Amino acid sequence: MRVVIVGGGITGLAAAHRLMELRQEKSLPLDVRLLEARDRLGGSIATRRQDGFLIEEGPDAFLSQKPWALKLCQRIGIADQLIQTNETYRRTFVVHRGKLHPVPEGFYMLAPTQFAPFVRSPLFSWRGKVRMAMDLILPRGPKQEDESLASFVLRRLGREALERVAQPLVSGVYTSDPQRLSLRTTMPRFLEMEEKHRSIIWAMWRERHQQRVNGATGQRESGARYSLFVSFKDGMATLIDALAARLPEGVVRLNHRVESLLPDECGWRLTVANGETLKADGVIITTPAHHAATLVRTFDPVLASQLADIQYASSVVVNLAYRRSDVPHPLDGFGFVVPAIEKRRLIACSFSSVKFAGRAPAGYALLRCFLGGGIQPEIYHLDDDALLDAVRHEMRDLLGITAPPLFSCLSRHPQSMPQYAVGHLQRVAHIRAQVENHRGLFLAGNAYGGVGIPDCVRSGEEAAEKLAGKFVGS
Ligand SMILES: Cc1cc2nc3c(=O)[nH]c(=O)nc-3n(C[C@H](O)[C@H](O)[C@H](O)COP(=O)(O)OP(=O)(O)OC[C@H]3O[C@@H](n4cnc5c(N)ncnc54)[C@H](O)[C@@H]3O)c2cc1C
Repeated sequence: MRVVIVGGGITGLAAAHRLMELRQEKSLPLDVRLLEARDRLGGSIATRRQDGFLIEEGPDAFLSQKPWALKLCQRIGIADQLIQTNETYRRTFVVHRGKLHPVPEGFYMLAPTQFAPFVRSPLFSWRGKVRMAMDLILPRGPKQEDESLASFVLRRLGREALERVAQPLVSGVYTSDPQRLSLRTTMPRFLEMEEKHRSIIWAMWRERHQQRVNGATGQRESGARYSLFVSFKDGMATLIDALAARLPEGVVRLNHRVESLLPDECGWRLTVANGETLKADGVIITTPAHHAATLVRTFDPVLASQLADIQYASSVVVNLAYRRSDVPHPLDGFGFVVPAIEKRRLIACSFSSVKFAGRAPAGYALLRCFLGGGIQPEIYHLDDDALLDAVRHEMRDLLGITAPPLFSCLSRHPQSMPQYAVGHLQRVAHIRAQVENHRGLFLAGNAYGGVGIPDCVRSGEEAAEKLAGKFVGS
């Protein structure tokens, strides 16, 4: 059975690795090839070292609450290289009228769960605070299949909750316009809370209380020994390198851009940009949905247009290395997010050398700025010099840094962040139904069921299992 995986990001690698596990566990006769267009594996994930700094050009951590990436780390023997966030400074700031203010303790994404820090916070006006508290008495909203983040937060908690905290915190993850972002796809918990308990504040308070009780009686959840976000001592590329090292020689082909995919009498025929052709019984496409659309257009224009309907945004990461003495701000947090209403050019900035150990030599600081995305798409089109100027301007205004950085590292991520618009789950259900018409074809990646690394791992592994179970078993 010849299987070709298109794309060597975390999804493609997780799929290839799972197929290898299944080959061994079930003695399956699988011959796997992973074709990657670029000259390196990892896709959005890339780590580099410069002058003693460890620089993440893409993601810098992953969520430990979703188990799939952690379980993979345990299976491939790299769990001992995981590192936790620095709990001494576990807080995030929000820019409000040009100044950094901590997100009130106990404020979780959309709503407060602790009374005193919320009431004391200068982030909200008294009117805004009263409006948020009205969530406790407001009735449930109308039953809807899906709803935008903005619509939900506006009706339950009010405009200040949306504009000053929910929008910037959520944009720091999805880079999306809250008017379009699907709540059912990204944070279904909040819709479920309303369905079950009516009030979000009350539901979250109950949850926190329950966690405290469980903690006190020792019934800790399995993920509790990890901080909310984790990374690796030597950076996120550890996961990519470890997966690649476990694949037998000859599986991975770099510089192999798949240009066409066609069904033929024995399965699938793929043509690579260098003119090479490959035959396969099964194909897993793990590229962004717009690339997948190009590959399937010739034999299924309906599927192609469904895939092309999933919009993507482009973003830029700028890492800046400083002498610690050149940064007047105490950097006493993990970083800050910037509400769109502040009209600045940053989405967020992580204090990387505070958040995780080993990111900068002693006496230095590493800051990681995030720009562009679905809210400010025009920023991506600025040239590198203009982007660096914009970032330095923001660092001066917000952190008081006037000295130039020792060096900066700018990384572009064109069309790599899917924008889960309202109705996304239904769109994905239609795509899944349409793919069923093509024996041996599977889709996986960040376009469908979650953008985070754990979701991508799950998506790749599920595609591998489906292929091995359904396809090889038939
Ligand atoms: C800037 C940024 C920061 C992020 N931060 C975080 C974070 O901190 N934590 C987190 O959990 N997630 C984060 N994410 C999200 C997460 O990193 C991505 O969703 C995930 O890495 C996507 O992996 P993937 O394998 O699905 O796709 P990709 O990484 O996009 O990989 C797809 C691969 O397919 C290849 N390809 C495309 N077309 C072809 C073709 N025709 N033939 C062959 N190969 C092809 C590409 O070259 C690429 O290598 C971030 C994303 C970005 C962009």
